[in-house]
Amino acid sequence: MRRISILGATGSIGQSTIDLIARRPDAFAVEALTGGHNIAQLARDAIALNARMAVTAHEDRLSDLREALSGSGIEVAAGTQAIHDAGARPADLVMSAIVGAAGLAPGLAALKNGGTLALANKESLVCAGPLVMAEAARHDATLLPVDSEHSAVFQALQGDSIDSVERVILTASGGAFRDWPIEKLAQATPEQAATHPNWDMGQRITIDSASMFNKALEVIEAKEFFGLRPDQIEVLIHPESLVHALVGHVDGGILAHLGAPDMRHAIGYALNWPERVTLPVERLDLARVASLTFRAPEPGRYPALAIAQRVMQRGGMSGAAMNAAKEVALDAFIDRRIGFMDMATLVSRVLDRLDGDATLIDASFTLDNVMAVDHMARIYAAEGLSNTANAGMN
Ligand code: NAD
Ligand code: MG
Repeated sequence: MRRISILGATGSIGQSTIDLIARRPDAFAVEALTGGHNIAQLARDAIALNARMAVTAHEDRLSDLREALSGSGIEVAAGTQAIHDAGARPADLVMSAIVGAAGLAPGLAALKNGGTLALANKESLVCAGPLVMAEAARHDATLLPVDSEHSAVFQALQGDSIDSVERVILTASGGAFRDWPIEKLAQATPEQAATHPNWDMGQRITIDSASMFNKALEVIEAKEFFGLRPDQIEVLIHPESLVHALVGHVDGGILAHLGAPDMRHAIGYALNWPERVTLPVERLDLARVASLTFRAPEPGRYPALAIAQRVMQRGGMSGAAMNAAKEVALDAFIDRRIGFMDMATLVSRVLDRLDGDATLIDASFTLDNVMAVDHMARIYAAEGLSNTANAGMN
């Protein structure tokens, strides 16, 4: 019986995780579930899974949660500190599935127990890769990737040393606008961007897929997780989304990981690692698939990829700056304050202002320093937005 907590249980990854553990009640016991505004979902799952604790991120929703769980005997709490404390509760495995930089601190708290952290929250590694890896090592904790591409690389690496790897190729669907004329992209709406051709995911990551900011984050995530050099990581558009990543070895061979585009594969792999168990994912009929296609991403369509390269070259905490600016830009795009292509422009401008600030960007990797960079980048991004409102971004 493995004791498990799910941070971000009400989200897309959280719900897929719950789907899998609910199918194996003898294998998992639930410690804590955390969520946001969806109190009904959180309470329903906490009861169904017999969780010990349920936590909402919003303090003003504590009474709603308490009411929804009254008589159940399930502990309730609310607020940022309570989410953090939920992550810190002893568990064999913590699923880190909060979206954004908010997932970093509770994930770090979980590592201190020396258990396993299943990392869906890619922002943790983008903002603070060296800190997360050092904390995992210091507490003898196990870090497992949940992002499908990174799970694919991890699986393709089994039995091989990372030293035998020449390159890693992350595939990308290309998102909602992969076939749009580039000059039309400036007019794209949030609704159009939030429609993914292949994967069913949360709204934010789906828009990040259309802009390739998701892939930009994943390139940095791969560098940090596997200890690769930036020039070893490639991105390839693969519209079918059946090959999730490829690992090229020094002998010229390439190992690819294939599967249906269903996050329950990568989640189930992490939940049951080092074992493999039967998972309820579609089996591929390759004769019916018939062909797999690949193409290079066009730099003009996906400026986020060049931003990832820039961040990796700059090093230090510029990943935290990029991620924070991206979160502000994404909010502004969702609120229709800026256009689709303005997101990359805004992020670049924030990096222009922060890159030279060595006292911030090159400070030592601590949670406080990462959050200081995150904070400054949000201020600069907000300033960039108000300038945009006055002058127009381009
Ligand atoms: P989502 O928006 O569907 O769910 C996010 C969860 O985080 C919800 O439970 C929400 O209540 C909680 N949350 C949001 N803001 C919070 C805050 N400030 N404090 C505490 N909790 C907060 O997101 P998702 O698509 O499930 O993605 C979760 C993470 O997994 C992201 O980092 C994403 O990049 C990564 N990921 C997602 C997918 C996918 O298929 N959805 C695939 C790979 C990686
Ligand atoms: Mg991914």
